[in-house]
Amino acid sequence: MTSPRPESVTCLACREHARTEHLRLAEQIERLGTMPGSVVTGGEAGEAAQHHRDLARRFAGGG
Ligand SMILES: [Zn+2]
Repeated sequence: MTSPRPESVTCLACREHARTEHLRLAEQIERLGTMPGSVVTGGEAGEAAQHHRDLARRFAGGG
């Protein structure tokens, strides 16, 4: 489980891990959105991917 609150994760290793996981999720979701017969539409996938990329950015410590 990754923390839903990036600012509460103080361990650098955990932050790095969470950041990687969120970026990976974003890519998976985007791929889902392009698959025919997928449960998510391209628009939904794009929004979800953006959400995870935003989380990843926060985990990276860039603000
Ligand atoms: Zn840790």
